[in-house]
Order: sequence, then C-alpha cells, then structure tokens
Amino acid sequence: MAENQKVGNNNVVIIGAGLGGLQCGYILAKNGMDVCVLEKNPLPGGCLQSYCRKGAEGVLEFDAGMHYVGGLDEGQPLNSLFRYFGLLDLPWEKMDPQAFDEVNINGKSYMFANGHTEFVEKMCEYFPAQRENLNRYVAFLKEVGESLPRSLSPKAAEDVFTGSLFARSAQEFLCETITDPLLREVLSGTSLKMELGANLPLYTFAQINNSFIESAWRLCGGGNLIAEALVKGIESMGGRVYTGKEVTEILPDGVFCGEEFFPAKYIISNLHPATTMNLVGESAGLRKVYRNRINRLENTFGMFTANIALKPGMVPYLNRNQYVYSLEEGESLWNPMRGNGTNGVLVSYYNRKSAQGCGVRNPIGGGNCALALDLLAPMDWGEVAAFEGSRVGNRPAEYNALKEAKLAECLALAERVVPGLGNAVEKVYTSTPLTYKDYTGTFCGSAYGIRKDCTNLMQTLLTPKTPLENLFLTGQSLNLHGVLGVSMTSFFTCAQIIGMEAATKDLEF
Ligand SMILES: Cc1cc2nc3c(=O)[nH]c(=O)nc-3n(C[C@H](O)[C@H](O)[C@H](O)COP(=O)(O)OP(=O)(O)OC[C@H]3O[C@@H](n4cnc5c(N)ncnc54)[C@H](O)[C@@H]3O)c2cc1C
Repeated sequence: MAENQKVGNNNVVIIGAGLGGLQCGYILAKNGMDVCVLEKNPLPGGCLQSYCRKGAEGVLEFDAGMHYVGGLDEGQPLNSLFRYFGLLDLPWEKMDPQAFDEVNINGKSYMFANGHTEFVEKMCEYFPAQRENLNRYVAFLKEVGESLPRSLSPKAAEDVFTGSLFARSAQEFLCETITDPLLREVLSGTSLKMELGANLPLYTFAQINNSFIESAWRLCGGGNLIAEALVKGIESMGGRVYTGKEVTEILPDGVFCGEEFFPAKYIISNLHPATTMNLVGESAGLRKVYRNRINRLENTFGMFTANIALKPGMVPYLNRNQYVYSLEEGESLWNPMRGNGTNGVLVSYYNRKSAQGCGVRNPIGGGNCALALDLLAPMDWGEVAAFEGSRVGNRPAEYNALKEAKLAECLALAERVVPGLGNAVEKVYTSTPLTYKDYTGTFCGSAYGIRKDCTNLMQTLLTPKTPLENLFLTGQSLNLHGVLGVSMTSFFTCAQIIGMEAATKDLEF
C-alpha cells in the first residue's frame, strides 16, 4: 500500500460514533491512548441522533432514538457513569415523579411513580390486594440495581449474582412474584424499551425497569447533545473523531475507509456484530463458521417512529410518557406475535424548541401545550425488507403507503390518551426499521440489537472479545441495551485493552 494512503498511526481505531464508540474513545483517551473514531454519517451519535425541522412555532428538534433515561439522580448508577463522561451538566429535565410513565391498557390508565416505596403505594391504589407481592417485586429490582457497581469492579468475574440473572426468565420471575395477571401486564407495560418474550433474561427486565423507577429524565435539546459532549471530551484529551468516514474493510492491522487506510494496534467496533464480521477481510483468517454463527443470531424488533409537529395550543404538554395498548381477552404483552397490526404505542412529548435552529438550544420549561410529540411502535423487519434496495428520498410508493397505514394505526391508538390528536397534527416525519438500517447500519433495523436468550446464553450473550486478537466489540448487542447498558459495556470493552482497574479508575459509585 502507498504510504500516502495511510492516515495516522493510531493506537486504537473505533468504528462508529454511536454512544458505545464515543464512550470507548473517551475512556481510552482518558487513559492516555491515541484514539481515532470513524463515523460514516455526517454527524456522530447513531441512535442518539436528533434532527431539526420547521414547526408552527419555530424550528423543532426531534429525537430519532433515545427519549428518556433512568437512574440519573445523585447516588444512582447512571449518575455515576455520566459524571465520569462529563454528561451531567447537559440540560436534563426530571420527569413527573408522581407519574413518569402512564400505562393505558384497553382504556384504563395506571401511573408509575418514582421511588421504590412510592411506586408500590401508587400501584396499590389500583391493586390493593397485591401489596405484599409488589413489595417483593420492587425489593428484588432494587437488589439488581444495587448489584450494578459490582459488575464494573475488577472482581466482576466473581459476581455470580449478575450471571445467574441472565440465565433466568423475566416472565417466569413475574409469574412467580405477581399473582394478578392484569398487574403483570401493567408492570410489563413500559417495556417497549425492551422486547418482551418467554426467553428475555431477568437481568434485562429488572435492571432497566429498576433504573426508571429510581428516577426518569428527559434531555432538553436532543440526544445530539450527548454525542457532541463526548466528542468534545475525546478531542480535549488528544483523540480524533472523523465523520463521513465509512469503514469498508477490517484487517488485523487497521481498517479501510474506501481508499484510506487507518492503521491500528487495537480495533473496537461499535457496529452490530454481524455487520462487523461481514466487514472483516478474507485475509484476516476469520473462520467462516464464526461469521455464520453471528449472522444467524436473531435480533430484537425494529421501531416505527412518527415525529409530529403539532398545531399550536391544541395538545396539553405532559411531563410523562404514555404507553397505550389494545389487548384482546386472554392476550398478553409477553406474546410478541399477538394480534395483527399495531397494538402498542409509546407517546412521548416535547416542550421545547430550538428557536434559532439546530445548534442553538432554547429549552422552554413548563409550557402548558406540547409543541411536538413522538409516537413509537414496534415494527418487524419483515414488513419493510422488500424495500431494502431503495434509498431515502427515493422509496417506492408501496413503502410510503405502508408508512401511512402504520401512522394511521399509531394515531388511532394514541387518540385514546390524546383525544383529537389527528386534528392537531401539523406535520409528520416517519421512519421505519429500514431507515435505521440505512442510517446506523443496524442489522435488520433492529432497535436493540441481538436478542439475548436466557436459555441460550452461550450463543446470544456475546463478550467484547472476537476470534481476532485485537478486534473488540462494544455497543447495545452485548450485555444490556439502552443508554445505561451501553455505558456499562463501554467499560467492559475497554477493560479488554487496559484492564478493568484502569478503565474504572475515576468511576465512583
Ligand atoms: C427508536 C429507538 C428508541 C430508543 N429509546 C431509548 C430510550 O428512550 N432510552 C434508552 O436508554 N435507550 C433507547 N434506545 C436504545 C439506545 O438508543 C441504544 O441502545 C444506543 O443508543 C445504541 O448505541 P450503540 O453505540 O450500541 O449503537 P448505534 O447508536 O447504532 O451506533 C453505531 C454507529 O456506527 C455507525 N456506523 C455504522 N456502520 C458504520 C461503518 N461501516 N463505518 C463507520 N461507522 C459506521 C453508525 O452510523 C452509528 O453512528 C432506543 C433505540 C431506538 C432505536
């Protein structure tokens, strides 16, 4: 290779500037390594991306993926992790502690309160006979939350508690703990943020639900702020983040972005593991059987998203999310194949605008009316796979019709908690799993990556290690998905290179 095609002499090349890639860059740069992050899109952030569009009252900023996080109060796990990454100064807004989430099943609403005791008290208003069971439920969730710092200690390998939770079924735990079938559905009702199913590991269910019961937060200003802060942090410590650099091949001594070669001692991939393995060049000697194994792993559902600019003054702003379900007699949220069409939707509100466009955030607190809201609903890759060859802005009419139909279903469901929503719509921007696949490279547009299976952990719970000695994985397909999970995994990945003690040196719980 010609010398002038080589870029830098990097210790570590990180592929992808999603949350996981940027956090790994931050940890390693903090530990004195020469870090270079390569992102294919014009902006970093991946699923944290937000984008701006004109609304009736100025320019609105919409989130493409992340909408809220849990456990950000002092003394809670995400607070410690975000303090490490310098993300606590961002404009976080606490959601209504009396009702940060509302689950509406067939027209009846149930509010979720923050704090373990308060959570039980609120649920007992609807299910007084289940007090003892609810106490056992939250006590267990709390115990799982408290175990999190242990899994990030240098002695994590001895933490048998966490390991055992991955091997237990969340659904079985719920059935054993809660005897009222409707309460089981309600407690599972905020779980569009994971894929419910018979083999969902208890760890995923308990850790994620616990963090939101602890406290729930929205970011005023879009997920981009997180990405921007991490990039700034990496650069201030001497690292580099390049956008518009799509990695096209991974070799043992570096990566190609088209003609450019970025040499590296270590390579971390923030991409879906299957996408990563498909980029590994033949000459790297990766065994076909491993590549095929990773390619065959199943993925969680994708997501349909409608970012909706609202007509002024028509929809009251709620500082909570609303999860709305239509359940037939005998149906359960734990059966992913239940019914046809859209039977669950998440409604999430915005109360802010970026008055002078993207880049100038101007949060408006406490307004009575929402400027915009999002509808999110699970969507199977199979619904959009036929349009895979098409490009954004040039999709076939059938695809657009499919999106229109999905939007109508979501609106109909959301109208149960937002009466008159259909008439309040000023403009809608929709995306499907195909959008996510094209944008972030996520395999099959999956929202949360590889589906972990508590009965088959050997195959589905991947570690950061790969058969190539200097290639490591990070991101939501490992361990736990979501902002909390990806933040933890970034430390596991970096520990492979610098050891857990160095990686977590300044991380204080
Ligand atoms: C619709 C939706 C809603 C969500 N809501 C929440 C929420 O409310 N709360 C929460 O905690 N979590 C939520 N999540 C999950 C959370 O956003 C993700 O778990 C997390 O952001 C994933 O980060 P990541 O680093 O694993 O991957 P990604 O964000 O997918 O990052 C991968 C990056 O790699 C880049 N890339 C891909 N291919 C290449 C290539 N060849 N070369 C260079 N770069 C490449 C991509 O462009 C991308 O930037 C949501 C996810 C979705 C999809």
